[in-house]
Amino acid sequence: MTEGHFSSRLSASAPLDHLDEAPEDGARRAVKRQQRTALSFELIPPRHDADEAKLKDLITGLIAYKPDYFAVTSSRRSGWLQGTADFIARLSECTNLPTIAHLACTAGPVDELADWIRTLIDSGVRGFLALRGDLPEGETSLPEGYLQYATELLTLIREIEDENAFRLAAGKLALSVACYPSGHAESPTPDLDLDVLLSKQRLGADFAITQLFFEAEDYLRFAEQSRMAGVRIPLIPGIMPMTSLKRAQRMGVLSGIEVPQRVADKLSAASDPDEEYEVGMQLTAELAGKLLDAGVGGLHIYTHNNLAVTQDLLSRLGIEPK
Ligand code: FAD
Repeated sequence: MTEGHFSSRLSASAPLDHLDEAPEDGARRAVKRQQRTALSFELIPPRHDADEAKLKDLITGLIAYKPDYFAVTSSRRSGWLQGTADFIARLSECTNLPTIAHLACTAGPVDELADWIRTLIDSGVRGFLALRGDLPEGETSLPEGYLQYATELLTLIREIEDENAFRLAAGKLALSVACYPSGHAESPTPDLDLDVLLSKQRLGADFAITQLFFEAEDYLRFAEQSRMAGVRIPLIPGIMPMTSLKRAQRMGVLSGIEVPQRVADKLSAASDPDEEYEVGMQLTAELAGKLLDAGVGGLHIYTHNNLAVTQDLLSRLGIEPK
């Protein structure tokens, strides 16, 4: 889950004779030998009236893949951090796989956020995704008393980590942040996005998860530019299954990115919803497949709590339950 976690897996597969080689050769060879695709599943806290049997199937079905971790979102619709904490508690009744909690500055004033971070650490959470959250419609900043940027939240979490140093003696918190292969909607230039990502790295982010994107090239270009700018943390691609054009467009609007014409044309040429689903899933599998072929070590799946779609996508990628 952290940089250390990823690299320890790599070094575990490297033979001792690599010690004779130039460091880059040994590292490159270890990367080539990496067999297993790291997997994480993003889940949304379910509504109170969610179908209990379906929820159980979802959790059991996803655990079967033995993901590296689950990530639980946080939003007004799901009761902010109460919803996140409740769902994490529910998950930990079923599995001891790690879970990271999404925390957004929009969830409340800084004191409330600090209390939530402590509460989540108390309940066993050892990883966070530090986010600003989306600004309310028409606003350009958050109210007084709120943290304004994800970087400030990172600093707050690291401060609370220091407070808890004795309790966390067996390991640090895993801290992740968001990044944007197609640019963040509010950023005037891609350079600002890169500067922000570098600040997040400097402030102790262990890894970043990308916003959804529609073309593999967008991620690969972004990853290359980030490396050239000095980003060294893993940039884990967030993959959204494209089950229909309407859904892709809606998720695009929520994320501030447009569905490219190529993708829209393919989806809209389908003659019925079944064909549209098939085309969309082929496009998603093609996108994820290109990333894996390019040597990307892991995928973060935006499951939207849909087990069947997640299973279908993974199966198209040749990833089966363990
Ligand atoms: P920031 O990194 O703070 O950036 C926000 C904007 O401010 C950017 O345009 C950035 O360039 C700019 N900026 C940052 N720092 C500075 C600075 N110091 N000076 C000037 N400009 C600056 N939202 C939720 O509400 N709940 C979730 O659970 C959730 N999960 C997500 C999961 C993933 C994997 C991703 C990628 C996004 C998720 N989001 C979630 C959405 C996210 O909150 C939004 O994309 C939000 O608009 C930006 O969050 P951020 O953490 O990237 O913000």
